[in-house]
Amino acid sequence: MTESLRLARAHFPVTALGYGRRLGLWVQGCPLACPGCIAKDTWDPDGGVAAGVGELLDDVRRAAEAGADGLTVSGGEPLRQARALGALLNGVREIGLDDFDLLVYTGYELAELDDEQRGTAALADVLITGRYVAAAPTGRIWRGSANQEMLLRTPLARARYTEFLEYEPPAPPIQVGAGPDGRAWWVGVPNRAETRRELDRALAALGYTVESVSWRRTRDR
Ligand code: SF4
Repeated sequence: MTESLRLARAHFPVTALGYGRRLGLWVQGCPLACPGCIAKDTWDPDGGVAAGVGELLDDVRRAAEAGADGLTVSGGEPLRQARALGALLNGVREIGLDDFDLLVYTGYELAELDDEQRGTAALADVLITGRYVAAAPTGRIWRGSANQEMLLRTPLARARYTEFLEYEPPAPPIQVGAGPDGRAWWVGVPNRAETRRELDRALAALGYTVESVSWRRTRDR
């Protein structure tokens, strides 16, 4: 498979962006420039690294063997690389994993998608759509602002995610990790600005250099 996806980072297991334990991929490059975006380091389309789809499918297989429940693709803007992402999602479908869902974030609304993007979006079980709007906070799990919709497109998605459509946890799920080099990283959707500030302050108080959400490719298994 010759397609490659420009990636900002990858992580396993991710527990704060979708159902269960997941392989998380963050694509590099976003043209949407939402004010207040927490992932500005992913905007530059020339940043990150190129990862071959075949290599990523090996990551998916390994994650599934380790018990992953699904794949989450965030960013950056995943549908800016619709062809390569489509190749990856089709490849995962062809592996034929049982009970393994595909969750894709996009800052676009469905009506904005071109044919190629629509075809790729159709391969996701769960699609979370819409720009981040700082003026429209939400408490809904896995969404950054109230305008964002979680679309459940398959029976597996409806079985797993229906209970989460309106669910508002007491605090958004955030996963924190730290390396031996004194750098900390976190995963999640801190859907209130103060949540992110508190998180950064707490990690700094523990002596960690917070790398925003910019980490190297990491695997904890
Ligand atoms: S779509 Fe996402 S990554 Fe892109 S600017 Fe908006 S919040 Fe940031």
